[in-house]
Amino acid sequence: MVNLNGVLNISNLSRALLIRILFFSGFFTLLITSFQLYSDYQRGVLDIQREAELSIKQTEESLAAAVFELYDVRVESILDSINSFNAFAEVTLIVDSKLPGYNSINYVVTKKWSEDAIKKEYSKELTYKALNIKIGKINYKLNSSPLKEKIFSQAWTILLSQFIKTIFVSAFILHIFQKFVIKHLAEISTWLNNFKPDTSYNPKNIDLESDSSNEMTKLKSAILEMGQQVYRHTIELESMVALRTAELEKLAYTDGLTGIANRSAFFSRAEAELRKSHRLSYDVGILMLDLDHFKSINDTFGHEAGDNVLKLVADTISTCLREIDMFGRVGGEEFAILVPGTDKFGMQALAERLKSAVSNTDVSFLDAEKKISVSIGYTKIYPNESLKSALKRADENLYSAKRNGRNCYVTEIDFLPKVVNQTD
Ligand code: GH3
Ligand code: MG
Ligand code: MG
Repeated sequence: MVNLNGVLNISNLSRALLIRILFFSGFFTLLITSFQLYSDYQRGVLDIQREAELSIKQTEESLAAAVFELYDVRVESILDSINSFNAFAEVTLIVDSKLPGYNSINYVVTKKWSEDAIKKEYSKELTYKALNIKIGKINYKLNSSPLKEKIFSQAWTILLSQFIKTIFVSAFILHIFQKFVIKHLAEISTWLNNFKPDTSYNPKNIDLESDSSNEMTKLKSAILEMGQQVYRHTIELESMVALRTAELEKLAYTDGLTGIANRSAFFSRAEAELRKSHRLSYDVGILMLDLDHFKSINDTFGHEAGDNVLKLVADTISTCLREIDMFGRVGGEEFAILVPGTDKFGMQALAERLKSAVSNTDVSFLDAEKKISVSIGYTKIYPNESLKSALKRADENLYSAKRNGRNCYVTEIDFLPKVVNQTD
């Protein structure tokens, strides 16, 4: 059944299709109808001509005799009888001027519809066959009015029937188009509008099973597959980006040589830890470490050996620290450590442990007798004190340690558990 709703409430695509169907159907209907009417008209003219010839043939002999006998009244009566045939629009009898007793007489009979006459003029020789004398000729034009009337009514019938046929065929085609194309396109369009690349693509109402060889079903499966692929790729891409970002972050925050936090990572983490300690009021200490006479290691054993020492020292220091301590390389051979939740006793113990660990590190690859050591300055970070100000104090203490002969640690008097700051 033709769905009237679908036809009346048609989509743009259906409307475009309908306009084209009507245009082409109208064009071809007119073309074929014109051709058919033209050939009917030609056939009709031939029929009228045959009819006219027949009626002339029937009266020809008696007309020739009447003209030859100068029997005018009879001539006119015969011509009138010819005239009574509907086939003629105009009949003219032209009598031969050489005929004895005549000086070219024309008898003309014109009918009221002569304006509808077919333009072409036909002619028939008139001979008195009994005496074989040429009498003259009959010229005549054919009447086209009944033929035209017939052709016009035929044209209306053809056009009306073609119009009705076109309406039904168009409605049927639109229904098929709506059912097999438009409906599916609308579905696909809704899916695609609701499609989000980061959520699993699983559109409802998919009728993929109905006919798998149907192009629409193939298109739907292809779009569904594409949607699922886009989703998979998006997920892959997102996890790849997360991985790469983590790697880049690690690269950006890690010191390339030692693998510990670099200067900027140390400072940003230390600042965050400090804010937390100010909020929760727990002790935080900070240590600055500088390798002693490191330049001479480079100068004596080469830069690469110096690098190895830096790595070794970083590893050694790391083993002395807890998970929560923050350790970073803040200069060439300078390290900083932020120690949360530790008092003056803990800080001194840590400084001692670090100093011993570094001086006990096995660096035999340099030279059997070569020893390395580190100088340490440390301090407590006071409530609401900035990292910068505490670092400055730790740095001053580090310089004091250098001045005190290196391989030692220094802090302020009031941060010492006892009045001794030299351990050597
Ligand atoms: P001090 O005991 O007074 O600290 O003496 P020092 O020789 O350690 O002090 P100084 O600051 O004069 O020298 C530090 C040296 O560390 C200079 C520089 O060439 C070296 N250095 C800095 N960064 C690196 C690095 O990444 N690798 C190597 N091999 N050497 C480095
Ligand atoms: Mg230095
Ligand atoms: Mg140094």
